[in-house]
Amino acid sequence: MSPRGTSDSSCIFCKIIKREIPASIIEETPEMIAIRDINAQAPTHALIIPKDHIASIAEADDALELGKLFQKACDIARQERLVDGYRIVINTGDDGGQTVHHLHIHVLGGRRLHWPPG
Ligand code: 5GP
Ligand code: ZN
Repeated sequence: MSPRGTSDSSCIFCKIIKREIPASIIEETPEMIAIRDINAQAPTHALIIPKDHIASIAEADDALELGKLFQKACDIARQERLVDGYRIVINTGDDGGQTVHHLHIHVLGGRRLHWPPG
């Protein structure tokens, strides 16, 4: 995941990374971008997106880079002051409810979340 430069011109997250469409950016590094979800499901709903176009976590093969993404998700939860807790979600494939086929971590918090998810 560390800059291999893979990109997909039809992918919405690749377009956000290339600034072809706007997004509310929380943080950016050479490896990832963190943005606010356009359809927030909680007071904080961030997406942590590796810059390389990887379709899903099922295709990810770099454990170190994946670990960094998780660490970044927790950093953002801390920055957003989600002191009462939060949820990290990675929807994967059709049955997992994935709608954007570029790996991303959801961070949801700021309200009491229900379990189990639907
Ligand atoms: P998935 O369903 O693949 O796990 O999550 C995709 C997420 O991306 C959804 O929560 C959806 O609201 C969000 N999303 C889709 N298009 C855009 C966009 O153009 N901008 C932003 N900020 N979020 C988007
Ligand atoms: Zn992409």
